[in-house]
Amino acid sequence: MEKRIKELTALLNRYRHEYYTNDNPSVSDAEYDRLYQELVHLEASYPEWVQKDSPTQAVGGQILKGFEKYQHPYPLYSLQDAFSHEELLAFDRRIKTEFPNATYVAELKIDGLSISLSYEQGKLVTGATRGDGSVGENITENLKQVKDIPRQLNKPIDITVRGEAYMPRHSFMLINQERHENGETEFANPRNAAAGTLRQLDTSVVAKRQLGTFLYQEASPSQASSQTAVLEKLHELGFSVNPTRQASGDMAVIWNFIQTIETEREQLSYEIDGIVVKVDSLAMQEELGFTVKAPRWAIAYKFPAEEKEAKILSVDWTVGRTGVVTPTANLSPVQLAGTTVSRATLHNVDYIAEKDIRLGDTVVVYKAGDIIPAVLRVVADKRSHQEPLVIPTLCPSCHSELVHLEEEVALRCINPLCPSLVKRGLEHFASRNAMNIAGLGPAMVDKLFAANLIQDVADIYHITQADLLALDGVQEKSADKLLAAIAASKANSADKLLFGLGIRHVGAKASRLLLEEFETLPHLMQAKRETIAAINGLGSVIADSLVRYFAKEEVHLLVNELRVAGVNLDYLGKKLDKTAQLFGMTVVLTGKLEQLTRIEAKDKLEALGAKVTSSVSKKTDLVIAGSDAGSKLDKALKLGIEIQDEDWLRQL
Ligand code: NAD
Repeated sequence: MEKRIKELTALLNRYRHEYYTNDNPSVSDAEYDRLYQELVHLEASYPEWVQKDSPTQAVGGQILKGFEKYQHPYPLYSLQDAFSHEELLAFDRRIKTEFPNATYVAELKIDGLSISLSYEQGKLVTGATRGDGSVGENITENLKQVKDIPRQLNKPIDITVRGEAYMPRHSFMLINQERHENGETEFANPRNAAAGTLRQLDTSVVAKRQLGTFLYQEASPSQASSQTAVLEKLHELGFSVNPTRQASGDMAVIWNFIQTIETEREQLSYEIDGIVVKVDSLAMQEELGFTVKAPRWAIAYKFPAEEKEAKILSVDWTVGRTGVVTPTANLSPVQLAGTTVSRATLHNVDYIAEKDIRLGDTVVVYKAGDIIPAVLRVVADKRSHQEPLVIPTLCPSCHSELVHLEEEVALRCINPLCPSLVKRGLEHFASRNAMNIAGLGPAMVDKLFAANLIQDVADIYHITQADLLALDGVQEKSADKLLAAIAASKANSADKLLFGLGIRHVGAKASRLLLEEFETLPHLMQAKRETIAAINGLGSVIADSLVRYFAKEEVHLLVNELRVAGVNLDYLGKKLDKTAQLFGMTVVLTGKLEQLTRIEAKDKLEALGAKVTSSVSKKTDLVIAGSDAGSKLDKALKLGIEIQDEDWLRQL
């Protein structure tokens, strides 16, 4: 038993490191929970062998390099778990022996990461991760990018609050799609995606990823008498508070609520992994107190894992728009989270190798982030003589040689004329956020491509009614509708066109920022790498990709063909005000401001056309220094940068 306890401790600590520190777990939460419960039971029977570093004795999480440590003024805890109705009833009995009149409030257990926010006089001063519960990471700048976190409360009070930051399902899907297309490792689930987003150093990435929050606890001493009152207070202060909850003193009512939510959870736009049941009275909570890692007045009921076994019947390899070749397993059908699953992603070749997945294997399938079914692992005892999967060396579409770039997890077809690549590219060009050509979906693209009518996006503008009518099953009415949509797309703003070209790393937002700056596509095509990289919100990866793309002779020919066909190359959106007083200047704020809040000062500077950054460098044009300015002011003085004060800004 001692050996098993040590083994479990080491294994769980490795999983915790992957999960909390790297945001990249290698096992499912259900598997982790199973092993954790085994350890809890063993430790209860053999307390003398509890290891010093046992995961049952500490709240998980470590500080990442690059972030300042933040000492929490009030410690953060984990929660005790319940995996069955019986465990909930046992919790109810424990509470009721001490407080027979206790009532509970049951809340959704949001599957994100814990955050703590501190406000002074109603202003957001610090935001931090949970870390090990007493020391977290200071991620204030990142949390400021999360739209529903108020920077200013509705009342000028001092308060520290707790909550969960999460990634909505649709953002998770979009990000993983993009990462997949770029040959990058996908996030395992929305929880890890949210944590990975908030724990990286580029704040502009956070802004793009559309995180949300739900706040649920007042960590600083509360005037309220109950958890329900706290939630109402947080809502009034301007926080996002989850509206779904159930209050009752009767565990049967709470259990009913749990079961209802379990059947409806798929419809939520975010992930939950259970229900947290809390004693409502704050006075009772105080009496009940805490264990080493969790409050005694709350319990988290975890929904049963959605994992099933299935057999891999065959594997399909398909080529996406950027040439990434994706393996998908065809499975013996299984019921999973309310749907029949007969296909599951195997992600990429590295994943197949790492998990040693073979044809005919029995595998565990789960819904990754409860959305896309994925193969989690092979059931080793059910393997007989399966041979390793044959990894294709040739593209399944054009039969040219595939490459496995060193820095990528994916196989890639790099033949620009590969029919799959070309067709996916044409579909992307016509898609809603690009040129928005209704009627030019995958089926129509297939037909036009097979009839040799379109090879590249410029060909779309040469299609005639006669061409369309000659295709199988195309009627005059739908042909005319498509031609009208094609004609209308010529007038689109050039940022739609740029996005439609499908240049690697250049998404819809980057396209808009680029055209806002350069105003026409031809101007952008001439731009220098450094000029592009300096645009706020972009960076060197996008700049490199654009410069590489526009260096190609055939791209110039293509754009010219589009121009001749009458496609607009100018930006038609809102123009930047280049006459604004601080247009194009990079400004840093430092020290304490007397009359403006940091946020107000930043907003004013941006309204004047400036780009506000947080650190002083050679690129800084101006520093606005308040009182007690420290090292940033010293650095600005050393670099000879212009320095102004708050009054100067207010006068502007
Ligand atoms: P937890 O996530 O199970 O529960 C505690 C957390 O719940 C709190 O810190 C809070 O952030 C959150 N929460 C969400 N909604 C809440 C609400 N309404 N009220 C109160 N709290 C709410 O516990 P934990 O200690 O953070 O993590 C343990 C869990 O993490 C495991 O059970 C497992 O599911 C997962 N995990 C997985 C791996 C892996 O390798 N897959 C590794 C480590 C941990």
